Amino acid sequence: MPPDPFTLPASLPPLVAGVEGIVSGILFGLIFGATLVWLILRIRRDTAMAGLQAAYDQSLQDGYLIRRVVESTSDGLLVQKMSGKIIWANPAYCQMMMRPLEEIVGRNPMEFVLPERDTPTAEEIANFRYDPHKHGAAGLHLAQNVRSDGQEFWNQINVSFRTAPDGTEHAILSCRDVTEQVEHNQALETIQSQLAHNASHDSLTGIANRAELIRFTEAALAKANKTGRQIGMIRIDLDKFKEINDTYGHPAGDAVLINVAKVLKSKLRSTDLASRMGGDEFTIVCPDISALEDLSKIAKALNLAISQPFDWGEGTLKCGGSFGVALSEPGMLSPEDLLQHSDFALYEVKRRGRGGVAAYDAVLDQRYSSLSKRRAEFADCLRNDDLAFHFQPTLNLKTGAISGFETLVRWDHPTAGILGPDKILPLAEELGVMADLDRAAITAALDFKVMLQNAGFGDIRVGVNASGEGLLHPDYVMTLDKQVTRKRINPDQIAIEVLETVMLDRSVDTESHQRVIAQLHDMGFHTMLDDFGVGHAGLSHLAQLQLSGVKADRSLASRVVSDRTSNRIMRTMIELCDDLGLRIIAEGVETADVAACLRDMGCKIMQGYWLSKPLPANQVIPWLMSYSASETLAKLDAQESVFEEAQIKAG
Ligand code: C2E
Ligand code: CA
Ligand code: CA
Repeated sequence: MPPDPFTLPASLPPLVAGVEGIVSGILFGLIFGATLVWLILRIRRDTAMAGLQAAYDQSLQDGYLIRRVVESTSDGLLVQKMSGKIIWANPAYCQMMMRPLEEIVGRNPMEFVLPERDTPTAEEIANFRYDPHKHGAAGLHLAQNVRSDGQEFWNQINVSFRTAPDGTEHAILSCRDVTEQVEHNQALETIQSQLAHNASHDSLTGIANRAELIRFTEAALAKANKTGRQIGMIRIDLDKFKEINDTYGHPAGDAVLINVAKVLKSKLRSTDLASRMGGDEFTIVCPDISALEDLSKIAKALNLAISQPFDWGEGTLKCGGSFGVALSEPGMLSPEDLLQHSDFALYEVKRRGRGGVAAYDAVLDQRYSSLSKRRAEFADCLRNDDLAFHFQPTLNLKTGAISGFETLVRWDHPTAGILGPDKILPLAEELGVMADLDRAAITAALDFKVMLQNAGFGDIRVGVNASGEGLLHPDYVMTLDKQVTRKRINPDQIAIEVLETVMLDRSVDTESHQRVIAQLHDMGFHTMLDDFGVGHAGLSHLAQLQLSGVKADRSLASRVVSDRTSNRIMRTMIELCDDLGLRIIAEGVETADVAACLRDMGCKIMQGYWLSKPLPANQVIPWLMSYSASETLAKLDAQESVFEEAQIKAG
């Protein structure tokens, strides 16, 4: 077996063995050190090499990725010189324009991306320069571009500028086809403007509606106030429109409205506004007008124009109007004020008998301001339940006893004092609150009846007046029925007084009124025909109505002593009522001689100042307490003896 060179012979002489040992030790140390240094250097070099390689690979990879991104993005990318010349474009841009890269590079896109109508001249293109400092040069732009096949599309272009290390500037464009979004937005805008149009226009005639009129007037007033000018308003109410509708049908009515709108539009200035307020009412606003006379002239011309016959169906239609005009006042801001003034002028035309023009002038203004103030006060009064009711007694002429009270409306006005029905009823009618007033009267009458019952005057009947509108209100009968039940009142103790004009006037639909009266009569209420005998109803009508009695009008009863004819009529009436089983109450008795004369004729009941004026509720019980039937009978007897004496004297 050969000796192992690395293994020391086990048997060397001792000295030789000592030197050899030292030398081989040094050698070994040197070799070992050198190997270690070499190893360390190599490891360090390899590590540096690996880092370099990784960085190199990464950069290759990045470049590749960037190139892939640029090539595969759906956005078109362009690099241009500041003169607009393209020096690079990505495939998406070529595709967007439907042009090969060769056709693109080296050209200014303005040569081929704009539709013909927008293409600049060759000179303009040659002179083009990007100015990065110009406001809006960088950033988003929207342009309508065209592809090589002529198809147009919306291009959203994002422009930015970059300066290369050598100092040259470039424009970098990123382009996106946004046609779909733009068209979608345009469709939305169309829908929105359609909706806005519908909200501000009348669907039948296409002219402005009330909302638009208010908006327009408000703006015009604000402007007029700034410039110190005035604006005019014309209100139109068509005459005989209802008749056209009723005679020829709704299509004819519509044709009239459309024709009026067309004529108004054709005659007005472009700065004026014509609107339909609904129904057959139109309103015009003229923002620039300085005199009421000018406005009236315009109204007259418009009336002439709309009154011209126009073809419809087989024949022609014709419809004139009533016109109310008003000018705004300095400082007037609310369209409602101007509407009210012109409305009042229109009301004036109608009051005069329709057709023609009226202007809201100083005279109307004075009338209107006091009326509108009263109107507002009355609305307040009704709202606050501030109406007062007074009660006037009726007398049984045979027994001298108090047989009933009539409920009469009063308004305790803060400055004008106590106002009567002559002031109250026209206001209530104008405000359309007659039914509310009647309801308030029912409540007052029934409360008053309860008060009488509680004070021991249970057999005194209470009368309450009903208007035509009140009677026809769907809740009228129910309100009465509920209240008598709740207040435990026998309906026989309540008299409903309805004017002869309401019940028997042939020019209005009285059948419905008669039905309600019959219903109330069946329910046990007393039903009285008021103001009877002033000529409206023939006596023969009485039998047809479900009545408990009549109230002979003041004009008749008060003349029984002084006028032979009235005396004869009254006598006949009393006899007739007796035959028909009707009660009769003579109204307006102011003197003892009239009362005595009526008693002599056989009239059983009377009402009038001779007995008492209407009293506030709180004075009624004291009045009843102090009332003496025998004293009243004595007065009547005394009066009769005066008659007899006179008759004896007359022979
Ligand atoms: P009417 O129903 O004929 O009421 C009688 C009217 O004659 C009352 O006038 C009364 O004050 C008045 N009068 C009574 N005795 C005399 C007299 O001896 N001489 C004169 N000159 N007048 C006398 P008033 O209170 O002014 O009422 C007028 C009309 O107003 C009433 O006439 C009635 O038709 C209506 N009215 C009154 N209150 C109401 C109500 O609450 N509702 C409705 N719908 N109408 C009412
Ligand atoms: Ca009455
Ligand atoms: Ca009466």
